[in-house]
Amino acid sequence: MVSVCGSDVRGPSCPPWRVRPKPTVPWWWAVLLLWCCCTQTRSEACAAAEGDDGTALLLCRSCGHEVTTGADLNPVRSPLALSHRNDSRLGDEPLHVQVLQNPHGHRFEVITFKAADVAKRWPADGGSSWFPGFAWTVASCPRCGAHLGWGFQPSEWPLTVPESRFVDSERTFVALIAGRLLREDLAPRLLVPRSYSS
Ligand SMILES: [Zn+2]
Repeated sequence: MVSVCGSDVRGPSCPPWRVRPKPTVPWWWAVLLLWCCCTQTRSEACAAAEGDDGTALLLCRSCGHEVTTGADLNPVRSPLALSHRNDSRLGDEPLHVQVLQNPHGHRFEVITFKAADVAKRWPADGGSSWFPGFAWTVASCPRCGAHLGWGFQPSEWPLTVPESRFVDSERTFVALIAGRLLREDLAPRLLVPRSYSS
């Protein structure tokens, strides 16, 4: 015969004092639990959308690779820029965007950073530089290979240098094409599968 002692069903063979009382949960415990869940969800969401210092992560728009953060901004003005403007689409603070044109007539809106996780293709080219005194290399996404911008290094350097020299120097910077970056906290809204969008 199976005893039902221990459940909240009182069986015929169980004395009254062996019946486990139904547990009661104070109302404030439910409120505390709900508060913990909400704050944890919010902090996890914030951590996903921001870098360690609280600035926005910027992704490759093609594949979502983490390229740089707002903390790596390094405004370098080009005397050859066709125009300048401040743009808030990629950061909480307006970013300095320059419109530059290459010798083929193609125009790019670029933002300059002191560091970015991009693959640079040496040797650098010292001609037709938007930033006098700097040679440039093509910079692409290390994951998907999309062209994201250019790396700039001092003209007096050898045209081919180790990656570590570029990264460690205070004199190098990268110019990234604004339209090929995406804020991570906006990515879930923009990367909705077509089947879900109307
Ligand atoms: Zn990519």
